[in-house]
Amino acid sequence: MKCRQCKSGVLGEAAYVREFYPGRLRVAVVLLQSVCDSCGHTRTLSAQHDENLRRLAARKSAYGDVLMGEDYIALRKRHSLTRPQMARVLGVSIRTYTRYENEDAYPVKSTRLLIELAIGKPEVLHFLADKADLALGLREEC
Ligand SMILES: [Zn+2]
Repeated sequence: MKCRQCKSGVLGEAAYVREFYPGRLRVAVVLLQSVCDSCGHTRTLSAQHDENLRRLAARKSAYGDVLMGEDYIALRKRHSLTRPQMARVLGVSIRTYTRYENEDAYPVKSTRLLIELAIGKPEVLHFLADKADLALGLREEC
């Protein structure tokens, strides 16, 4: 496949490693992308993206009790909340909440348990949203 950027090079598949540090572990996931042999431009093709998502989801088995960033994102999207809204619901700063989604940080156990509760029981998130004076979207069903 030709490079869209320089229009002269050819894309070749290259692997890279993304590291996560849940608990005291180091979890490395090998991900795929395409790199131009001429200009070095990188691109993730749709098949590579799907495979990367599969590989990222598979790391869950190494996490034990720790939640993945995707778990936070899934909960937030299920209730149609923005990051600032979700931060408000959990009583943390936007920066702190964003670090949970990106796995730059993992919450303390009490916060993690609260989030697990909210994942398992939607009414818990409703309760927290009420406490934060936040009306949840009407799109969700529960
Ligand atoms: Zn190129």
